[in-house]
Amino acid sequence: MAEHTMLLVDDVDMNLEILETIFEEHFRILKAHNGIEALDILKHDKVDIVILDIVMPVMDGFETLERIRSDKALMDIPVVVSTAEGGENEERALIDGADDFIVKPYSPVVVYKRVENILVKHVLEQQKLRDALVESKEEYNSLADSVSGGISVWKVTDKVEVLYFNDGLCEIIGCTRDEFSALYKDDLSRILHPDDYKNVMDKLRRTKELGYKINSVHRIRKKNGEVIWVNLTAVLYKIEDGAPIYRAVEVDVTESKNNELLIEQQNQELSHALEYDSLTDIYNWRGFCNRTAIFLQEHDYRDYVIMKLDIERFKVINELYGMAIGDKILCAVAECMEKCLKGAAVYGRLDADNFAICMPDDKTYIADVREAIQSSVRAAFIYHNTKVYFGIYPITDKNMPVDLMCDRATLALETVKGQYSRNYAVFDEKLHQKVLLEQEFNNEMDWALKTGQFHVYIQPVVSLDTGKIVSGEALIRWFHPEKGIISPGDFIPFFERNGFIVKLDAYIREEVVKILEKTPVSVNISRLEFYAPEFSKNLIALVEKHHVDPSLLRLEITESAYMDDPEQLLREMDILRRSGFKILIDDFGSGYSSLNMLKDASADIIKLDMKFLSGNDSYGREKNILASMVRMAREIGMETVAEGIETEEQAAFLKKMGCEYGQGYYYAKPMPLEEFLKKVEDTRLN
Ligand code: C2E
Ligand code: CA
Ligand code: CA
Repeated sequence: MAEHTMLLVDDVDMNLEILETIFEEHFRILKAHNGIEALDILKHDKVDIVILDIVMPVMDGFETLERIRSDKALMDIPVVVSTAEGGENEERALIDGADDFIVKPYSPVVVYKRVENILVKHVLEQQKLRDALVESKEEYNSLADSVSGGISVWKVTDKVEVLYFNDGLCEIIGCTRDEFSALYKDDLSRILHPDDYKNVMDKLRRTKELGYKINSVHRIRKKNGEVIWVNLTAVLYKIEDGAPIYRAVEVDVTESKNNELLIEQQNQELSHALEYDSLTDIYNWRGFCNRTAIFLQEHDYRDYVIMKLDIERFKVINELYGMAIGDKILCAVAECMEKCLKGAAVYGRLDADNFAICMPDDKTYIADVREAIQSSVRAAFIYHNTKVYFGIYPITDKNMPVDLMCDRATLALETVKGQYSRNYAVFDEKLHQKVLLEQEFNNEMDWALKTGQFHVYIQPVVSLDTGKIVSGEALIRWFHPEKGIISPGDFIPFFERNGFIVKLDAYIREEVVKILEKTPVSVNISRLEFYAPEFSKNLIALVEKHHVDPSLLRLEITESAYMDDPEQLLREMDILRRSGFKILIDDFGSGYSSLNMLKDASADIIKLDMKFLSGNDSYGREKNILASMVRMAREIGMETVAEGIETEEQAAFLKKMGCEYGQGYYYAKPMPLEEFLKKVEDTRLN
């Protein structure tokens, strides 16, 4: 038994020597004089059995025993205590965990036999334990081999060394155990698909704290070359020589992954349809907003603008030349955008001819894009020199909702629409203030109407011949509790956009109709109203309700309404005229469809606005044009009102031209209803 080591612990040298003599033939002997020395030796040497004296200085046997039994590394070492005969220490020692005891004075045979018994018993136990372990390991292996997944233990360096693997792993790879050992055991990373290799290896090599868990779905190549998807779960449970050791479980998920990919593809197709315009295949409204928001987050480092564009009279082109031509123009614009913006910007068709671009705030680039789009439209539609208008909003807050940014670009766009000299405008502080003001108006308008903040003013129209008031024009004023009197130029265009004008004009007509007796008063009809259902019917009902002669309620229509939808306008005008209303064409000569409208429309009176004259012209051409307009009107049986007359000279000139009526500050400013009625009364008495 010389392969065993025995530790003798006793403070009396004599005792140590006796024991040494008994055992030295069969054991390697180590000696200690107290508990401390003994523990020290146990820590550094492999000891198979300890004989421990109970009564010792420094640290006695009980304490030493306790320390041995509570130390994980030592607890399994058999300990025999030695006591003096007749003491009570034996029992306590046994309870405390001693394996046996021997009694002084020693009987060599008894002592030897006891120690031998204990050792044999101990060795047997150890053996049993080992057997049990082996058994359970085999059990574990057979269990592991029976599951359908791959189970393995990996040591990861720059490769993946397999320390253990089960049959399931071989099955996944499609090889036998021998083939596995030959082909993959030294480096399993070989099976990783090249596209997934880096990703998986990076995860595995990142040595983290124990328990770190990796989850990955990736592709591997089977022995026969087939590519499949596996779901890998690997737990880092040990670090050996700085290399992480993983327990890895892999499952073949090819089938469900393929389903997933199919669904993903379908989703992609679906979201493509949701985000793209089917005609041009660039983003639609939704796609543009989504992508722009992402684009702006990702391109944090420079300034961008939103540019909106509008093709001049696109609706009319569609109507006159057909949808095919319209579509061709739209596709040309989209194509042009792809050509000059791809990769650098987001662009889309929001609806109809309404395009938007989110691009870098670079003046020359923006100008080039504008130029390119304009040329592409002209190339696609050769019958007319169609103009494209642009509105630009320089983005200041990238977190603002994209549709709001588009609204601001649109506002800038509205300011240039129809202009000859320019084709683009930039949203600036002035426009911003306007937006804020309009938001206030929007909040207040209904309340303002309900509480009588809108007052009807009337500006007299006089006969240029006699200077007497012959009629009037109703012009609205907003008496705002904080802002004072607001002029209609500040809110009418906004109300035309948000639709409130329909309510407001109905209110004005009601107020005007109430006071109509003999003197006609004209009201302004917003172009929007012609699209309101039963517009003419409602007007007829209104005059009937108040028993008013419809010829007293005159209707001023601007020629811009004619541009929008001529047919609808002419139809309504016809109905109204036949019902006895008088129709005035407002701001005649200010737009470019005047002559067309005059040709088609059945109107009664035209209004020429002096403010459209430059005034600095030495009365040459402009006066001639004015004179011929008046003449032309008379020739086709229409009367003329000149408005905006400010000087006596203007009045005299117009009278000479044969213009019948005049309106302007030279005669009177717009005044409250009552004042107007009083003035009319006064003129009649004079
Ligand atoms: P408009 O129909 O062309 O009205 C004539 C405008 O010229 C009025 O401005 C009037 O006050 C102004 N005016 C009159 N005489 C002179 C003059 O001698 N010199 C100058 N410089 N201006 C003169 P106002 O009242 O500010 O109205 C502006 C515009 O707002 C109107 O232009 C009209 O288009 C619109 N508007 C006014 N009231 C209403 C309304 O009740 N309904 C609708 N839909 N529009 C309205
Ligand atoms: Ca008017
Ligand atoms: Ca006018």
